[in-house]
Amino acid sequence: MEYEAVIGMEVHVQLLTKSKMFCSCSAETFGAEPNTLVCPVCLGMPGTLPVINRKAVEYTIMTGLALNCQIAEFAKFDRKNYFYPDLPKGYQISQYDLPLCFNGWLDIEVDGQIRRIRIRRVHLEEDTAKLFHFGDYTLIDFNRAGVPLMEIVSEPDIRSPEEARQYLIKLRTILRYLGVSTADMEKGAMRCEANVSLRPKGSSELGTRVEIKNINSFRFVKQALEYEIERQKRLLEQGKKVEQITVGWDEEKGTTVIQRTKEYAHDYRYFPEPDLPPLVISREWVERIKASLPELPDAKSERFQSQYGLSPAEARTITVEKEAADFFEACVSLYPNPRKLFHWITGEIFRLLGETG
Ligand code: ADP
Ligand code: MG
Ligand code: ZN
Repeated sequence: MEYEAVIGMEVHVQLLTKSKMFCSCSAETFGAEPNTLVCPVCLGMPGTLPVINRKAVEYTIMTGLALNCQIAEFAKFDRKNYFYPDLPKGYQISQYDLPLCFNGWLDIEVDGQIRRIRIRRVHLEEDTAKLFHFGDYTLIDFNRAGVPLMEIVSEPDIRSPEEARQYLIKLRTILRYLGVSTADMEKGAMRCEANVSLRPKGSSELGTRVEIKNINSFRFVKQALEYEIERQKRLLEQGKKVEQITVGWDEEKGTTVIQRTKEYAHDYRYFPEPDLPPLVISREWVERIKASLPELPDAKSERFQSQYGLSPAEARTITVEKEAADFFEACVSLYPNPRKLFHWITGEIFRLLGETG
């Protein structure tokens, strides 16, 4: 029997706002002294009230538009209840049934083929505190608690580990073009969970999925998915069932490790956040945001082909990073031989990459 992999991604992105999601604390927490960027609101003190960060809503709408989503006319925040030391309030403010953005898509290219990955939703929530485990004790840094966090959920349209990797790269490129996040995976500004199941090739039903957490680089996404697909294939070939579990990627061992089984699956008891008003998103606001969007990578790539005669592959290469594309255009205005420039610039980039490993 031949099997086909079915993959859906959940990606969390920290937004580049000045202040946190529901208070005025600084959201630029990377590298800051622990527990210095906190206040009664993000520490979850009783009696405090949250206030919605307008810029975070705007950044989420920008992302939704760039991902070809519909933008909700009416959205709201909900409480996701669970107990864990990284969550001072005992609940996370998130969005459940009425996300800001939904029904979008993103095109990726793998082996010269364009593949369209549907986006189920893009919603807004708040980040949790950071835990540091040492032997028999744990320290908590609350700086990250309350940082605006956007979640982008795809439909299970991805069919291989390489497509998953390309999906993340494309997402990072778009987020950086928009300027809504640094999208640095190494710094935790972009974090992903990959859901994967197998099914007989040709079938249209979904198999039982396994969720892989704790993946913090493009390389690990691919490795973790390859490992998990092989594991599931072996089970199915032995006539066994795949269980719906959550696993973590162990980069040292190069394997996935079980974190929890379905019996312990969470029941978050979502309910509408009573301390926040619902969001009414005017069409004028959405139109204004749409008009202010920068030229996005696909459009830039098309234009570089028609305007400068680059091949599709060349145009894609130079537009992956906005800085490289801007540098290329600045050079073309001084030295009008675009193809020669392309080879100089990318040659130099590859040389630098080679030097830094
Ligand atoms: P939850 O929110 O409980 O994690 P969802 O059903 O919302 O679950 O799905 C989360 C992610 O898992 C989505 O990206 C979705 O595309 C993906 N997914 C759902 N079912 C499957 C499946 N059978 N195989 C692979 N991916 C799946
Ligand atoms: Mg999930
Ligand atoms: Zn605060």
